[in-house]
Amino acid sequence: MKLSTRKLGGVKFIDFHTHRRTVAPEALSVISLEPGDLENSVPESGGNNFFSVGMHPWRLPDSAGNIGDDLGKLRRALRKRGVIAVGEAGLDRLRGPDMEVQKAYLTGILKLAGELSMPVIIHCVRCYPELTFLKKRFASGFNLLVHGYNNNVRILEELLKHGFYVSFAPAALERDDICSYIRQKPEILYRAGLETDDSGLTIENIFARAARVFEMDVEELAQLMKNNFVTFFQVEDDA
Ligand SMILES: [Zn+2]
Repeated sequence: MKLSTRKLGGVKFIDFHTHRRTVAPEALSVISLEPGDLENSVPESGGNNFFSVGMHPWRLPDSAGNIGDDLGKLRRALRKRGVIAVGEAGLDRLRGPDMEVQKAYLTGILKLAGELSMPVIIHCVRCYPELTFLKKRFASGFNLLVHGYNNNVRILEELLKHGFYVSFAPAALERDDICSYIRQKPEILYRAGLETDDSGLTIENIFARAARVFEMDVEELAQLMKNNFVTFFQVEDDA
């Protein structure tokens, strides 16, 4: 989806994924919603807020019997103003319905994203091989971001190798393995995002922490993340 981001000039911090509806004026946030949230009223997309709409694996039904209707609702929600991505959607080994149901939904959602040329924000818990398989099969030509990443460096490398973007969970900034890996290979940050998710932390606070642990200037990190926002969401930066 192409849209103008004339506003990006005034923005300091990009929050790639949050569940909070109200956000700091200096931040640009991608607020995660479900189709039902958009049925009656569209939340304000004023300020610097954008939306992603998806079906979280935790909240999927127990069977894929209604998948056609569910995807239809999602399709309609994705057309609303301010929606720039699909998500979150994904696979979770520890919560949600049967893995076959989760896979059926994710497959349908990826096909829809391909049709609409929209990037996807992914929730993935202990299903990286399955996710990579579905990406190869159903997700060429649009970007996928694994959000809330807080796992080891080997899996991080795999995801990057397979062309995923990765947004780090606030807790990942406390991990020595991840932080020292990024210090050694700062180019990883060209495919990375930062997020508040449901942490209750501010994005400003997260950028300050990230700059410290990555040993970077906060301004430099902020600019890098703005570039990543434009590349990942395929928005036009005409600031
Ligand atoms: Zn989330």
